[in-house]
Amino acid sequence: MRSLSKSKMLAYRQCPKRLWLEIHRPELKDDSGAETAYRIGNEVGAVARLIYNEKGNGVFLDLDELGYDEVFAQSEVLLREGRGPVFEAGLRMPGALAFADVMVPDDSGGQVRWRMIEVKSASGVKDYYRDDIAIQAYVAGGAGIPLSSVAIAHVDSSFVYEGEGDYRGLLREVDFTEETGRRRAEVASWLNGAQEVAAGESEPEIPMGEHCAMPFVCPFTGHCRGVEEAVEVEYPLSSLPNFTGRRRAAVEALGIRDLRDVPDEFLTAMQLRVRDVTRSGRAWLDVDGANADLGKFTFPARFLDFESVMFAVPIWKGRKPYEQIPFQFSLHKFEEDGTLTHKPFLDLSGKDPAARLAKALLAEVGSSGTIFVYNATFEKAVIHSLAARFPEHRSALLALVERLIDLLPIARARFYDPAQHGRWGLKAILPAISPELSYEQLNGVADGAMAVEAYKEAIHPATTPERKAALEDELLAYCHHDTLGLVRLWKRFR
Ligand code: SF4
Repeated sequence: MRSLSKSKMLAYRQCPKRLWLEIHRPELKDDSGAETAYRIGNEVGAVARLIYNEKGNGVFLDLDELGYDEVFAQSEVLLREGRGPVFEAGLRMPGALAFADVMVPDDSGGQVRWRMIEVKSASGVKDYYRDDIAIQAYVAGGAGIPLSSVAIAHVDSSFVYEGEGDYRGLLREVDFTEETGRRRAEVASWLNGAQEVAAGESEPEIPMGEHCAMPFVCPFTGHCRGVEEAVEVEYPLSSLPNFTGRRRAAVEALGIRDLRDVPDEFLTAMQLRVRDVTRSGRAWLDVDGANADLGKFTFPARFLDFESVMFAVPIWKGRKPYEQIPFQFSLHKFEEDGTLTHKPFLDLSGKDPAARLAKALLAEVGSSGTIFVYNATFEKAVIHSLAARFPEHRSALLALVERLIDLLPIARARFYDPAQHGRWGLKAILPAISPELSYEQLNGVADGAMAVEAYKEAIHPATTPERKAALEDELLAYCHHDTLGLVRLWKRFR
């Protein structure tokens, strides 16, 4: 019998085929995106080790440093002797293993028992955490560890960091002692089922469905899709926007794989347009409609884009977890006579950038003229957060919101190019509008997630001045590229 880790059991809970692939074909896994989640989890885990180690006698069993055998050996001794808190203790029972984020000794009942706490970086209890903690408690029970309580500690989004490394209050515990006790038989049946699948010699035959994205996007999606769409198609059904559920299943049942072959009766007005434009092979633009949508703008026309960062563990005094904090903007200005100028702002000082950014923004945007953005929800949220934080600038900042015109809904309603493949993000639409503005020409930072990573690296004290300068160039080029793209988009729509 294999020893299945908690993550393998959770993979089984999502889809038995996923578990089988994790064990037998791990090379097919697409892990992109996993690193960010892992890093955020690590940041919160490190703070948990401070919070639950008030007396300073905690032991962190670092798997990377100690290796499996040593972690399990030390865990056994510490948990038997009631010494702790223990962080990342290894728990083992026949057929399963898990690592407990926090184990705190509790001798209130006269004998040593343990409070087991699973730390999560989200700001609430997600549904799948219930399976996670049930498995964890089951393995602890199977390993003979007496538990006095079982809890999930998640990030409390109302926490305000007061500085000096004081993170008490960052985590909020939710008790699961009763629930995990009640679900033992259920977990035992998962373990049996998972063992059976793991021992299987061939890939289970499970069709794709909603479970492929719930609770996570399965890292084998590419593999399964490839198997199901054995014939490569240039315009697959996935390039039709919002084409899911029963209508898609019915079309697939007809053996249709290319969106150009989908009959009218299965499609909404938007999907019909995508199909027909794709069939034509040429971009479509509703010039009159786009002009009508843009009709109310006034010169000078400005084009604005922010980059922002969020920290699960706030690093600046007065900040809450997961607050959206802008650190950069790019602003192009187009005058009525055709003059185009650019003003960038980027704060890599490592201090909270919001105050400087708000001032710089107000200094550059003037008091009149339309401000074009792409996906105004984000820009509005950033401006509102600045207005709430800096009451002295509140009315000037809120006045900017009134001047915003969102080019995204105009693009959705008035433009489509087959090369967009059903997407309207700037990355999809710009190469169609302005091929010379391809994102491939950017050196380094080429999307919002990369910008956040570059920013975090640039403000890290260990980053060399040379590397910081290179990251600064990349960030400036990326943000400039986006607002220049907005200018091109706007010109095309006019
Ligand atoms: S993509 Fe879907 S069907 Fe394939 S392994 Fe993942 S969850 Fe299962």
